Amino acid sequence: MATSNQPPIALTIAGSDSGGGAGIQADLKTFHAHHVHGLSVIAAITSQNTRGVTAVHPVPLAHIRNQIQAVFDDFPIAAVKTGMLGNAKTVRLVARELRRRKPAWLVVDPVMISTSGSRLLDEDAVEAVINELIPLADIVTPNLPEAESLLGRPLRTARQLEAAGEALLALGAASVLLKGGHARGDKVVDRYFDDRGVIEIRHTRLPREGHGTGCTLASAIAAELALGHTPRQAIRRASAYVHRALKDGYRPGGGAVYVLRH
Ligand code: PLP
Repeated sequence: MATSNQPPIALTIAGSDSGGGAGIQADLKTFHAHHVHGLSVIAAITSQNTRGVTAVHPVPLAHIRNQIQAVFDDFPIAAVKTGMLGNAKTVRLVARELRRRKPAWLVVDPVMISTSGSRLLDEDAVEAVINELIPLADIVTPNLPEAESLLGRPLRTARQLEAAGEALLALGAASVLLKGGHARGDKVVDRYFDDRGVIEIRHTRLPREGHGTGCTLASAIAAELALGHTPRQAIRRASAYVHRALKDGYRPGGGAVYVLRH
């Protein structure tokens, strides 16, 4: 039983990054930095370092289901974040479990391809993400290539981006944070769409390639929701957290990418 001096609890259902910069490892560091107790269900295991991903191993469905059961059976989970799920069967299983267990908050990061270019979600799983997972989400956090894949059309002009918000909301999530990091320009513009309209969050673009920024943003949002903030507060606070963590980032390996300092 949680008591009042205990931290809120958040769960990540995602992939492991052996290099410690992204995935489950980034999520748990982010939860910890927010004074939130982190639980993890590992859906896939990647072999990777700062140079890239060398292998992806999906965790068998029965073991994913067991992990989900173990954590929901014992902890008062305030918020859930999903990240790399790997394939359609895993997406469907996770969606089924979340429909049944109805966490108070769900943040869906529709992870598809790593910055280094490796596929982290099978192409034929995108449909399951659209049909089964996104409709459950309080906040879905696609970057531009992911949003293009979800909508099946390019997003280049400002008009296309504005229309994308409506179209992504129409997939059934309560709100959408469309991350603008992949666009050009000296400002990164993230757009948050909900039933009250759109908010733009701008940051000066840092002259460095970050690794694990998307994972960290989604788990920081989940942490802020677990702490009691509203979605609009949570996305602003989480965005500021990621910006600062990347500014203070460092290069732990031989690759060019920076990991975040939590
Ligand atoms: N590895 C795992 C397990 C991930 O979940 C992700 C992103 O979500 C990545 C790698 C890729 O991270 P990035 O594109 O920031 O390098």
